[in-house]
Amino acid sequence: MLALLFGAYSHRIWGWEDVEIQPQYIYTPEGHKTNIHTLSRSSILERHKWIVVYSPHPDDETLGLGATIHYYKRMGFKILVVVLTHGEGSIAREILCDLYGFCFSEKEFGLLRVEEFKAAMVTLGVYHAVYDFGDQNLEEEKIKRIILYYDRNLDVAYHFVTASESGFNPDHVVTCVALKNVNVRGGKAEFGVYALYYTQIDIHGRIIINADIKDLICKRDALYQYRYWNPAEERYSIGYLTFPELWDLLYSKYEFEIILIITDKDWEEVNKRKTGKHSSF
Ligand SMILES: [Zn+2]
Repeated sequence: MLALLFGAYSHRIWGWEDVEIQPQYIYTPEGHKTNIHTLSRSSILERHKWIVVYSPHPDDETLGLGATIHYYKRMGFKILVVVLTHGEGSIAREILCDLYGFCFSEKEFGLLRVEEFKAAMVTLGVYHAVYDFGDQNLEEEKIKRIILYYDRNLDVAYHFVTASESGFNPDHVVTCVALKNVNVRGGKAEFGVYALYYTQIDIHGRIIINADIKDLICKRDALYQYRYWNPAEERYSIGYLTFPELWDLLYSKYEFEIILIITDKDWEEVNKRKTGKHSSF
């Protein structure tokens, strides 16, 4: 506990704030603003266990891990989804302008994507934070610092990323590599496995699908936030327009998400906590 307290408050003790790494706000599952100190405190007092999900662009988290996120939420974890960029480099910006006559600067467009992300996170019912490191500009060292920041401030059980390191998008690759290479606290913070969102993946029977219908419906609803079109509300279906073919495929097969399954050894640890004094972890 002492280590945890020290970890949670060390940045205060030293008066150290990493401005670039500290998010401006963390949003609650209801979409209200809060901050890391509040979460840090309640994490200690109520013994919450966290899963932090790192998403390179808005929509990767829901496409890749929507049902997984909801599954672990039902299992009693607190979930924080961290999006690392606004995804402003998407081709959808040109499509919106050329085909639909809605023309935005990259900055404006990125903020519209952030709104889609926030709506999806409220639908999933999870905490969320937004960074703006620039589309196709992610760096391993920065992501490692972010992972360590949350690892230090919250009692993190697992860190997850959404996509394979063999993907073609450099932001996806670097996010996976950062998680693989970072040193998070042993015993408590395990480094997560990856889920791939390409439906043709050969799973070799390794993966158990144990999503409940509740997880799948919630994922579908969260995905819908990325394809909701209503210009009067400044909603432009950007997630969908970014890669319509993939979206159509995934939207029609959303139930095929590969749920990240924590290995047996990890589950033993979680169950030990579960059967301890506090039933919620
Ligand atoms: Zn992406």
